[in-house]
Amino acid sequence: MKNREAIIEKIDAIETELIELGNKIHSKPELSFEEYNAVENIITTLGKHGFNIKKGIGELETAFRGEYTGKGNGPTLAFLAEYDALPEIGHGCGHNLIATMAVGAAIGLKEVAENINGNIVVLGTPAEEGGGGKIIMLENGCFDDIDYALMMHPCVNNLILRGGLATQGIRIEYYGKSVHSSFPEGGINALQAVIQTFNMIDQFRGLFPPIKTNVNGIITDGGRAANIIPDYAACEFSVRAATVKDLNMVMEYIEHIISTVEKLIGVKANIEKKV
Ligand SMILES: [Zn+2]
Repeated sequence: MKNREAIIEKIDAIETELIELGNKIHSKPELSFEEYNAVENIITTLGKHGFNIKKGIGELETAFRGEYTGKGNGPTLAFLAEYDALPEIGHGCGHNLIATMAVGAAIGLKEVAENINGNIVVLGTPAEEGGGGKIIMLENGCFDDIDYALMMHPCVNNLILRGGLATQGIRIEYYGKSVHSSFPEGGINALQAVIQTFNMIDQFRGLFPPIKTNVNGIITDGGRAANIIPDYAACEFSVRAATVKDLNMVMEYIEHIISTVEKLIGVKANIEKKV
């Protein structure tokens, strides 16, 4: 039997086990860096199929490496498994399926390991909805000996090489001066600064690099009582662009907007960049 057929046959043979794994991860959504149950379920499956497991790699408790050492000198191929979920939504974009597909692909490929040279790895990469697990793993050497890394992401269409976007999170806190709204003079309204930030970002949208630039935000703190001018307000934005160059250009606009808002409203801003 040819390698390809043998791989497909193996994956078909473990279909029930794979679907169960996907369902288990889905039924207990865990947030970034807290994916303990997902990891246990995945490594149990990989262990059962002869993969050696190393947990807690790259200084991340919920990162792991499952490895099957093949014969000969060949490349080390890694299938990447994501498994974190979103707050309140759960597995919105199917990271449970990413993990399941990585496990299925690795076990399928292992079936023909005797015929090919090289090693098969499943890298468990936590915190992809936020936290940049892969970046931390990369910086801590988890990809040093990996020759190829492959990942599948669920989508409504079949695509190969959708490509990625450059992304940056930013949290902006504004500090003003609180006064009672019956005597508003002398107050510095931090919420006004947040509102201006949203409005000014909208004003500048027309100047952002047009392809795939995307800036979205939420207000996380907007004051505590309607009759008090808020001395503190904060917002967060998720910035995406086609390239790092485009992203930096958009970030420059946003930083310019923040310093303009400081001057306009009289607030002091604190900026925290997030992955
Ligand atoms: Zn996703």
